[in-house]
Amino acid sequence: MHAGISVSEMDHTADKVFEHCPRCGSTEFPAIRRDLFVCKSCGFHYHINAAAASGVLFYDGAGRVLFTLRAREPAKGKLGLPGGFVDLGETAEDGLRREIREEIGIESGELNYIGSYPNAYPYKGLTYRTLDLFFEAKWESQQVAIDLDEVDGLVWEDPFTLDSDRIAFDSMRQALSRWKSLHPR
Ligand SMILES: [Zn+2]
Repeated sequence: MHAGISVSEMDHTADKVFEHCPRCGSTEFPAIRRDLFVCKSCGFHYHINAAAASGVLFYDGAGRVLFTLRAREPAKGKLGLPGGFVDLGETAEDGLRREIREEIGIESGELNYIGSYPNAYPYKGLTYRTLDLFFEAKWESQQVAIDLDEVDGLVWEDPFTLDSDRIAFDSMRQALSRWKSLHPR
């Protein structure tokens, strides 16, 4: 079973948080769908789109996958994957290389796309909807330099015996399932 997001996190979706039209300030700014607000005063439309994020499954010759220990909420203490939000104008690959450099201090080699999965990311009172694009990469021995603001440490895990409840997000669980289907034992 996937843990999903909790009821309290669902309370922080945009339709519970956005109270005013960002153009005219009217409070007549209802969500007419879960992903669309329309201002009754000025007609402004605001769409909630998924933000793009990317993540990597580094794997070694023994078939283990590298996880980060998350240093921050959401999902502090759980297993994550290197990666993060893609900046405006950036490719998923460039965003991922930048995040890998920032989080664990290495230059990544070839990144191979394996699939995309939606996710919910609660952060400071608002639950962001993301589309997470995952890549795999063969680990080449390098000296890591961890950003301790983001990552408490790195751990290698056997994806075939790992308890999936330890993984931070649904999208990562699905990416790991995809990775296992590509590397059957
Ligand atoms: Zn308005």
